[in-house]
Amino acid sequence: MNILVLPGDDIGPEITAAALAVLERANAVYSLGLKFELRDVGVASYKKIGTTLPDSIVDEALAADAVVLGPCGMTDYPPREQGGVNVPGTIRKRLDLYANIRPARSRAGLQKALPKLDCLIVRENTEGFYSDRNMFLGSGEFMPTEDVALSVRKITAKASRRIAQVAFDYAKRRRKHVTAVGKRHVLQLSDGIFINQATAVAQQFPDVAWREMDIDAMAADLYTRPERHDVILITNMFGDVLSNLAVAMSGSLGLAAALNASDRYAVANAGHGSAPDIAGEDIANPTGLILSTAMLLDWLGHRHGRTQLMQAGRAVEGAVDAVLANPATRSKDLGGSIGTHAFGTAVVAQLEKSANRIAQTV
Ligand code: ATP
Repeated sequence: MNILVLPGDDIGPEITAAALAVLERANAVYSLGLKFELRDVGVASYKKIGTTLPDSIVDEALAADAVVLGPCGMTDYPPREQGGVNVPGTIRKRLDLYANIRPARSRAGLQKALPKLDCLIVRENTEGFYSDRNMFLGSGEFMPTEDVALSVRKITAKASRRIAQVAFDYAKRRRKHVTAVGKRHVLQLSDGIFINQATAVAQQFPDVAWREMDIDAMAADLYTRPERHDVILITNMFGDVLSNLAVAMSGSLGLAAALNASDRYAVANAGHGSAPDIAGEDIANPTGLILSTAMLLDWLGHRHGRTQLMQAGRAVEGAVDAVLANPATRSKDLGGSIGTHAFGTAVVAQLEKSANRIAQTV
């Protein structure tokens, strides 16, 4: 299987190097047969060839089995017509990555984490309030007069249905519960479609319980009673906000993992931004991207029916948990002092340790 690796901007190359070291080790230990191709995107690519994303890389992404994409920092890009292409946006669109999947979980010993949190946010990724993606032509935001601005929120039955399918599929493999989030009594038509599609999809999953909640009630409930929530099915903008709340509750934005997926493609990319304020200092926490690659292994395992890949995904997650449980191997954002590179090395060592333990007991 071919994995295209695009390190991105700012802290992107540092955390991608750490994540790739873990992925390469998992590949060797679990005999996964993965091959990695590294390519520059973002500012590194612009400096060499005058564009942040050449078409050839989009073609490679379309041909690959999966992609690992570091965060990209659009602020340093030139205008679009001068080569400043939105890297994650273009890849999301061309690969039709309609599902943004973001887990958040409490881990033992992390002081800032709230207990009893273990949820998976399944966020629609192609429409909603995002003006860059909800129109066929033109922008979803416009000004009829100089002092009036309008934003359009687009919700379709097709997109609502397919994201609901992903949420219930994941719930089947987890604690078998979905909370579908909107604000239907205000956004009666658009959230009406969203929730009606969830209702229809729920019929196919008699073993999965589900309920509907308004976004405001949901934010409070997630904070006060996190144990009530397993899979959270949500529209684009509400999901963006709620997933940052959830990951902050887990201890740090540096822990934010994310998978962007369609039925054919999956891209692992951390749920946080490119953090230009700490770039190049070897202090960024690579956990988010490492856990995203664990999600990618799991996704590939399910797609191709290969248990080794799923097992490797679980092993990477377990290794990260073990490293984070030790105060001596926590990064700065979690109150520790270990650097980005050393954190990756610690996860690799832990992965080997657990693989050896399994080998000895077999
Ligand atoms: P975007 O709009 O692209 O999501 P942003 O500007 O909202 O990005 P981030 O780049 O995610 O924000 O950074 C927000 C804060 O979190 C910054 O102070 C940054 O240093 C910190 N941060 C983000 N990612 C990490 C990380 N992996 N490790 C440590 N700190 C991080």
